[in-house]
Amino acid sequence: MKRKIDWIIHAVSNGIACADCGKIEKSFIPGACNFHTHGLAKYGHPDLQIVIEYPPQEIARILNTIGLRVQDGARFSAGDLIQGIYEDCDVRLDTFEETGRNVLRVIIPDKFNRYPEDPNCEYPYNLQAFPTEMLLDAPSQPMTMS
Ligand SMILES: [Zn+2]
Repeated sequence: MKRKIDWIIHAVSNGIACADCGKIEKSFIPGACNFHTHGLAKYGHPDLQIVIEYPPQEIARILNTIGLRVQDGARFSAGDLIQGIYEDCDVRLDTFEETGRNVLRVIIPDKFNRYPEDPNCEYPYNLQAFPTEMLLDAPSQPMTMS
């Protein structure tokens, strides 16, 4: 049986805006971004998000790997640890808000396997504890025409 990826990934990072969300381009804290899926709701599952600025292909690999498990019937919730994404560590899912909806953010531990709530968690891994809006360095203000 052929498996088909029937969700999309929006890449919102420095210089790239998300068309569907209506998000305008803003500047992210260095090391942060907002990649997220749309379309897992059809499986009765929250969408997924990654906010650490890994190469886009790597982010897509992680989101699609978890998405395919959801398609296969897995149901994840906040606090779940997911094995098999990396050889040497688990990733964890936490609930965060993304453009007015709740998503499950994939939290990747640093190289010492420390998660963001650990005060020693290294940059930029510690950024994963921030609400999505806080990942923006300088929220741009709409221009006022007067
Ligand atoms: Zn989006």
